[in-house]
Amino acid sequence: MTQIAIIGAGESGTGAAMLASKQGLTAFVSDKGKIADHHKETLQQLGVDWEEGMHSEDRLMQAQEWVVSPGIPLHAPLLEKARRANINLISEVEFAWRYCKGKVIGITGSNGKTTTTLLTYHILKKAGLDVCVGGNVGKSFAGLVASGDHAWYVIELSSFQLDGIQSFRPHIAILLNITPDHLDRYEYDFNQYVASKFRIGMNQTEADHFIFCQDDPAVTGYMEQHPQQAHQHPFSLNHQPQNGAYATRDQLFIHLSQTPFAIMIHQLALQGKHNLYNSMAAAIAARILDIRNDLIRESLTDFQNIEHRLELVGSVHGIRFINDSKATNVNSVWYALESMEKPVIWIAGGIDKGNDYSMLDDLVKEKVKALICLGTDNTKLRNAYEGKITDIQEAHSAEEAVKMAYRLGRKGDTVLLSPACSSFDLFENYEDRGRQFKQAVRSL
Ligand code: ADP
Repeated sequence: MTQIAIIGAGESGTGAAMLASKQGLTAFVSDKGKIADHHKETLQQLGVDWEEGMHSEDRLMQAQEWVVSPGIPLHAPLLEKARRANINLISEVEFAWRYCKGKVIGITGSNGKTTTTLLTYHILKKAGLDVCVGGNVGKSFAGLVASGDHAWYVIELSSFQLDGIQSFRPHIAILLNITPDHLDRYEYDFNQYVASKFRIGMNQTEADHFIFCQDDPAVTGYMEQHPQQAHQHPFSLNHQPQNGAYATRDQLFIHLSQTPFAIMIHQLALQGKHNLYNSMAAAIAARILDIRNDLIRESLTDFQNIEHRLELVGSVHGIRFINDSKATNVNSVWYALESMEKPVIWIAGGIDKGNDYSMLDDLVKEKVKALICLGTDNTKLRNAYEGKITDIQEAHSAEEAVKMAYRLGRKGDTVLLSPACSSFDLFENYEDRGRQFKQAVRSL
């Protein structure tokens, strides 16, 4: 008889199946869509039963607990039915937590999760700790736990994954920022989204640590109403908090213990204001673990940035091309534009997630000379900028957009792909969009 049902067979569902099988639980995996071949192979090897293209409700209802994939809407009819039948619904993160013997550093926020997760991992690894990395990036948390024990797990967490936790308790939680994103999942209610992000700290105690951005009003506002149990470590560019991190014009400081930490900002591998926040958050976590200052400094300096995040593709006839395909919301575009110096030809668009573009107005006015809309339906983006940007054009492929940008470009200009939208109308995902963009630049 099925003890645990796993709804959705992506990275997290397959990871949950691996862990269930390791724990000797009888699992059944059900996916309404098609399951990727490599996941099917894994399930086959594990001897875990699966189905695709349907949900066999009778069989699913026999399980007392379901591990629900983060991609499934919170109020999907199937889940409502399960709730009525008193089936316990959890996320793969919660499931993994039950069997995790190490400590967790959990990282969430609207933007910067992957960067900060990989940076934190890099520092810990270099310091010689027994550490692994995953969650919303790379291998799932359950997959990690299934493949062996570690002392430390650096885990990227989306709000979708946090929605399904019950007892998950990271020893160190990092909340980077909260800006409107994915509101479609939260009935267009920003407060619900904020509350979802704060679930990262809901089971923390005084023995744990909560690292957060003091400059983010959504974060501090929530904390005034809902005090956190864990030790608090703010980071800020506007204040100089105790027990946390801050930066002056040219240095980043951390004051946590008797030995303060400092580094020159120009030495940081990750440049830009947003990355200053990410570096501060990761470095606080490292200081909590008592990693030596010189090791932290070295890691912050030699970290290799990741693809599709303000990635410089190259220059053609003095025109720079930057791939920021991962910027799938307005806030990350703000930081991208903020860090641009030269006249910008901005390529944006795709599937709009309920965007409000007004926060970009000043930066667009100051820096953007042309907008190329790269999406199937560009109405909303066009309407937002009609009359504000003199040159607005439309493209239906990365190649077309790059050629158009190149024609419009003059020496010294920057072509920035920073879409503010998801990519699924024209591309498989943001990686595909970024790669096609880079390919098109290289073929110029
Ligand atoms: P996430 O995993 O949260 O999507 P990433 O690290 O993949 O975050 O970065 C996504 C996008 O957001 C990139 O365009 C990046 O340049 C931008 N970004 C990174 N860190 C921040 C931050 N702290 N605040 C705002 N934008 C950021």
